[in-house]
Formats: sequence, C-alpha cells, structure tokens
Amino acid sequence: MDLAERLDSIQKRIQAACARAGRDPGSVTLLAVSKGMPPELIRAAADQGLVLFGENKVQEAKIKISLCPGRLRWHMIGHLQSNKCRDAVHFFQMIESVDSLSLATEIDKCAHKMAKTMPLLLEVNVAGESSKFGYKPDQLLSELNDINALKHIEIHGLMTIAPWSPEPEKVRPVFRKLRELKEKCEAILGAPLPHLSMGMSGDFEVAVEEGSTIVRIGTSLFGARAQVKKAFQPQSQNEEVG
Ligand SMILES: *Cc1c(COP(=O)(O)O)cnc(C)c1O
Repeated sequence: MDLAERLDSIQKRIQAACARAGRDPGSVTLLAVSKGMPPELIRAAADQGLVLFGENKVQEAKIKISLCPGRLRWHMIGHLQSNKCRDAVHFFQMIESVDSLSLATEIDKCAHKMAKTMPLLLEVNVAGESSKFGYKPDQLLSELNDINALKHIEIHGLMTIAPWSPEPEKVRPVFRKLRELKEKCEAILGAPLPHLSMGMSGDFEVAVEEGSTIVRIGTSLFGARAQVKKAFQPQSQNEEVG
C-alpha cells in the first residue's frame, strides 16, 4: 500500500468507528505523527490533503517545519523541557504534552514575551505507568485552576497515551477515564473543553468510539519508523543558547 491507500484506509476506519458511536466524522481530526520522517514524506502527506502534523522533539521539528509548506499546522506531542519552551511556542500551534504547573508557567512566560496566547492540552498518565510522562488524575484536578489562571495559555483539553496492548479493546477503560476526567475538569473550570487527544495506530478506533477528537497516527500512515530508509536526521544537534 502506498501513502494514499493507507490514508484512505485510516479515514474509512475513523468513519466506521464514528458510525458505530453515532458521531459526526467531522468531529475527529487526524494528526499525522511525522517524528523521524523526512520532509519529503511530510510534503507527500500534505499533497494528500493532510494539514495537521505532530512532532515529539523541538529541535527536529524546528528544522523540518522550515522545509515544509507554510500552511501546515504542527502540534508538539513529546515531553517538553522548560529550556525548549521558547522554540515550542514559536514553532507549534498547540502543545499537547503539558504535565506540570511549572511547565505551563514557563510556556505562559514565553507566550507573553511573544505577545501570543498558546493553546495547550494537559497530558494525563491515566494508567499510572511509571515509564510514561503525564499528570496523575488527582494532581491534574488540584492544579487545574492555577494553570487556567495563567493569562497567555488556553487549556483546550486533555491528551493521553494508552498502554500498548495487542488487543485495543483492553485499553477502552483508559480512554473512557480520560473522557470522564475531562468532564470533571469542565465542571471545575465552568467551561467546555473541546479536545480529547487519544488513539494511536494500534488503538484509534476504540478511542474514537470513546470520544476522541484528535487521533495521533504515525506508523499506520507512514510505515514503521525504524524501517524508513531516509529516517530524518537533523543536521545540527547544537542547542541554541538563551
Ligand atoms: C509516536 C507517537 C504517536 C504515534 O504512534 P503510532 O503508534 O506510530 O501511531 C502518537 N502519540 C505520541 C505522543 C507519540 O509519541
């Protein structure tokens, strides 16, 4: 299968999951996870009509974004260090991986300096896996008002990475819990949160059935990252100072 066929198959599976759940297919956005993929492949995906891409490293994204069409939109989906906040705010339209008040505060500071308001999602470690980043649900609920008080960020919803399982049905409770947690957050904030970013190549249909609005798909679209011959290697690993 080529890229166009893989994309078509993913879109059909999203539509079928929406039909099963009685949802409008227009309420689910496909985010193409392009980490490790070269700009040529991203441009090929853009030619197929994809506009939203996800990267997990600021340094890699920074170089690739400059080599891709300016109309594309980019979400940061990887763990963010506070010394990369400035670039993250500059290059991304949304940061999906905010998992502490201190990180949100740093993003707010950078956004303020750039006279921006930065949309973000709060990442939750629903299953409590020690290998994963993300808020514990209780911690999120207790810090939510403090994050919301920051003037130059906007909370748009929640994000989670479910534990890997060969049987996607097994992780349905994780997606359901994230949806319930979003409802609790909405009650605390007294305002609706539009987004639930959940579902990856192995489990996106179940995530859509449970209310996902952003599915983050890499390997099902682009192929296995390790097998991509021209996996993208940033030319310069040097960090900017300041
Ligand atoms: C890599 C990655 C994905 C995509 O995973 P696939 O299994 O390749 O679809 C989604 N979300 C995050 C946060 C990732 O790091």
